[in-house]
Amino acid sequence: MQEMILCKLGEVVLKGLNRRSFEDKLISNLRRRVSKCGNFRVYSKQSTIYVEPVNDDCDLKAAFQACRQVFGVIAVSRALPCEKDVQAIISAAKKYLDAELSAAKSFKVESKRADKNFPLTSIQLSQQVGGALHQAYPYLAVDVHEPELTVFLEIRDDAAFVHGPAVPGAGGLPLGMGGSAVTLLSGGIDSPVSSWMMAKRGVALEPVHFFSPPYTSQAAKDKVIELAQRLTPWCGRMRLQIVPFTEIQEEIRRACPEDFFTLIMRRFMMRIAEQCAEEAHAKSIVTGECLGQVASQTMEALRCTEDVVSLPVLRPLIGMDKEEIVRISRKIGTFDTSILPYEDCCTVFTPRHPKTKPHLDEVREAESALDVGALCERAMANREFVRIKL
Ligand code: ATP
Ligand code: MG
Repeated sequence: MQEMILCKLGEVVLKGLNRRSFEDKLISNLRRRVSKCGNFRVYSKQSTIYVEPVNDDCDLKAAFQACRQVFGVIAVSRALPCEKDVQAIISAAKKYLDAELSAAKSFKVESKRADKNFPLTSIQLSQQVGGALHQAYPYLAVDVHEPELTVFLEIRDDAAFVHGPAVPGAGGLPLGMGGSAVTLLSGGIDSPVSSWMMAKRGVALEPVHFFSPPYTSQAAKDKVIELAQRLTPWCGRMRLQIVPFTEIQEEIRRACPEDFFTLIMRRFMMRIAEQCAEEAHAKSIVTGECLGQVASQTMEALRCTEDVVSLPVLRPLIGMDKEEIVRISRKIGTFDTSILPYEDCCTVFTPRHPKTKPHLDEVREAESALDVGALCERAMANREFVRIKL
């Protein structure tokens, strides 16, 4: 019998009446993700989703890794099915968990019996298998309260299962259950993390990037495509929109007071993001802004930036320190790409003395020389779309 993967549901189980739709979404997300690793059967039973290889060509290791990156799953383990017979269960446990049983100092056996026709109760089964394992591994003490290793046994209709140790899954909610949002993706450390954090809460992402050739290079653009690519094991496939920003930036430089360059530029980003959101039926805008990190991220500056949009602006990093952001960035696999040294359009034409406490009236006034509508329209019309495949 073939080894398989068990995924434990996270917050999905708290969803009451909506639970069915959350669970269905999670199953279809898992199905899509593991389909890259072979032919698997994915189904749920009692708060667990089973990912079962259908034939020998399946890459179980890759599928296990994929399951760990699906939001909505809190823990993942592998399990070996065997005959529903105590001796068969004991030898399966010894063979399957030999490394863990040899390394641990203490253990216990926990059994679940879905098949009520099985001749032993759960407690009897745990005792018999626990006794046999204790004999086979004499240094291994039984500790029912805080064991280092728990051997899980499960008696189901079709077979008995021995579980390996569970490892943490991605947590959060199934992607797509929280609707969708436009996420502003720069080439920095922050915005891939803010995108990931919202995806973790079930939000499907529509990434938008602004680029300013020739001030920003092809390498900078490739870097953003690479960042989006690195998010796909978590966020699934995406469509990245690349918005030409050169004309807007040059116009701002030509017609606006220098101190307001960055703020006005950010107002344009928000306006265009909102237009992209409307087009994609997305319900909010996500940024990697963090309070106090730079002049354009003070409370006064944030107010001036979001003044031009009516959709909610989600800033999941707002209260985080750089260190915490970096830690997540390493964990999700975007850090190494984020630190590649290419310029971003935010770093061209930066004012020498940016306003940290701007007044809304001043910013509106400073911007009034521009034909905002026409500039946004041209940028929208000249977007480039890049499909980021899983
Ligand atoms: P990051 O590390 O994500 O680049 P940052 O600390 O450098 O962020 P800013 O450059 O002020 O901060 O940008 C703040 C946010 O604005 C970014 O996190 C991102 O969401 C958005 N942003 C900045 N530049 C761009 C860009 N070129 N394209 C799309 N979004 C951008
Ligand atoms: Mg940046």
